Amino acid sequence: AKTLGKGQYHVFDPTMHAAAMQALQLENDLRKAIQQKEFVVHYQPIISLCTGKINGFEALVRWQHPTRGIVPPALFIPLAEETGLINSIGKIVLSQACHQVQQWHQEKLIDESIFMSVNISAKQFAQLDIVEQIDQIMAETQINPQNLKLEITESAFINNAQSAKAILQELRQRRIQLSIDDFGTGYSSLSYLHNFPVDTLKIDQSFVSKLDGTLESLGLIPAIKKIAETMKMSVVAEGIETEKQLAQLRELKCEFGQGYLFAKPLPEKEATELLAASPKW
Ligand code: C2E
Ligand code: CA
Ligand code: CA
Ligand code: CA
Repeated sequence: AKTLGKGQYHVFDPTMHAAAMQALQLENDLRKAIQQKEFVVHYQPIISLCTGKINGFEALVRWQHPTRGIVPPALFIPLAEETGLINSIGKIVLSQACHQVQQWHQEKLIDESIFMSVNISAKQFAQLDIVEQIDQIMAETQINPQNLKLEITESAFINNAQSAKAILQELRQRRIQLSIDDFGTGYSSLSYLHNFPVDTLKIDQSFVSKLDGTLESLGLIPAIKKIAETMKMSVVAEGIETEKQLAQLRELKCEFGQGYLFAKPLPEKEATELLAASPKW
């Protein structure tokens, strides 16, 4: 952009134009993808770090683009949030994940102690009918609400504390569980934890990846663990990639974790095989 003075800008940057065009193209593609059901959900096991047993799964969306192949969420979730398309995509993911629970339950692969954790973006959480949407999917699939956990980031209730509290209480009444995703990476105030019924804190990968066996590398993890203990919440460490990280998390008495060390997010078929092969609850 070239300055013309008085706050006016003459825009003729060709790379900016290209980026705008690309975003528009992506938005159109996303709309089509919603209509043509191009989204699939992969499932990453969440493991008990002391027994090695499967404690639950996190549902993670993938876009199966007809020509581009599998597109990871980092490449389309931000635009989906900007355009509001995240509401439709989120509904699709929630529905697929709950249908998966229904199927696993029917096949006797899980009982009510295994949860399915579904990411709900802040924008999606702010929809007036979010509880209704969840009720509808629960009615349709008839799954035990204890099998369902929702992952929201701190931003989901910081921006809109009043309505967030009401929504969380509705969810609590239904016995649906709640995780705070990427805990410790967002807002510094912890006071909201007192006002909201939260079951689990998820320790972000950025903390876990720093673990290298030294005391200094523990960073905020002991503090997060302490908060969880005081508030009677459980802790899930994400992005565990090495034995060293695992050993340190175990030493800190982190109960649960997920990461490539155990398994990547798996397509339905592989996740089902893993469940079938693992020791029963
Ligand atoms: P997130 O919720 O923090 O999810 C964890 C991410 O870490 C996932 O990336 C997962 O595949 C990845 N991961 C798990 N274990 C490891 C590991 O050991 N090493 C490394 N390097 N990565 C690991 P993914 O699936 O690409 O998703 C990225 C983000 O996109 C998610 O971060 C979440 O914020 C968002 N996302 C994914 N699916 C959904 C969805 O259905 N709805 C919404 N709203 N957001 C979603
Ligand atoms: Ca998550
Ligand atoms: Ca996370
Ligand atoms: Ca994360």
